[in-house]
Amino acid sequence: MTITDPTTATDTPLDRARAALRRDLLADGVLIDLGSPGLYGRTGVFERVSSAVDTAGVRSMADLDTAVVRFPPVEPLAAFERTDYIASFPDLAASISGFTGDDRKHRELLAARERGERWEDFLDPADLMLTPAVCHPLYGLLTGTVPQQGRTFDIFGDSFRREPSLDPMRLQAFHMHEFVHVGTPASAQAHRDGRVPAIRDLLTSFGLEIDVVPANDPFFGRVGRMLARNQVEQALKFEFVTPVYGDAGDPTAIGSANLHEDHFGTSFDIRTEDGEVAHSACVAWGLERVTIALFAAHGTDPASWPADVRRALDL
Ligand code: 5GP
Ligand code: ZN
Repeated sequence: MTITDPTTATDTPLDRARAALRRDLLADGVLIDLGSPGLYGRTGVFERVSSAVDTAGVRSMADLDTAVVRFPPVEPLAAFERTDYIASFPDLAASISGFTGDDRKHRELLAARERGERWEDFLDPADLMLTPAVCHPLYGLLTGTVPQQGRTFDIFGDSFRREPSLDPMRLQAFHMHEFVHVGTPASAQAHRDGRVPAIRDLLTSFGLEIDVVPANDPFFGRVGRMLARNQVEQALKFEFVTPVYGDAGDPTAIGSANLHEDHFGTSFDIRTEDGEVAHSACVAWGLERVTIALFAAHGTDPASWPADVRRALDL
């Protein structure tokens, strides 16, 4: 396998810090370069740590009464539509295409390919989107009425966001574990706020320095700047950040706690028994981000990690 290192722009201290972490993770056999920025294969040591992270995470949520659901990495276009994601994050969205042509169109495709041209133009939209947040496929299942006390779900799965980067903390394809509550305004807020201490304690027990800060999502364009301001002003979302690159850059979000208010309840027509529009909230950790933050903080050999960290992870 060829290990390519497209890291050339190493001008700022942050660029250098990112390139150094990426180089170590590849050289020490934690990640496998797939030749496209933000897309990696994962090795045994990575999987061992990320499973340990997830197991400890799930244990920290054991007091919640959850229903477990799992979804494929793609969602129907109709469900994606209703989330309004394309309005807020068009630059991160990605769709699936497929070939639906006949022999003639296939020959044209092959001829274009032969000429070294792009052949994906011969594909047609398949009415499927790559899922950018693992809770998205849930809401369509809840259209109708949820119990007054709400319902809580444990969802683990693949996320895709089209943001190619050489920062190993920013992947295009990654895994998220979310604990999602759909209920009343009060129960949704209680879910978001109530889980913050457990997640902070969990991440701190891994020997990571954690701060909980208001989130500033990368909403797109001019309208997006307004949405971003609203998110901060209304304190809708918090992130668990850790200084992966020390003083060289801002700390990175490895988890989040997000109140959607009635966003999904309205879009998907979900109500509580009293007839009011349901509110929802998610708390989540990103598996790759937590795992890579651990390798960055403690080195690429888990056997040499501090004993209390290994104990917290049962490694
Ligand atoms: P959010 O929906 O808050 O943007 O993402 C939830 C969690 O997924 C984040 O807290 C983070 O841990 C993880 N995540 C978000 N974006 C990325 C990314 O680009 N790469 C990786 N590896 N994880 C991400
Ligand atoms: Zn969510």
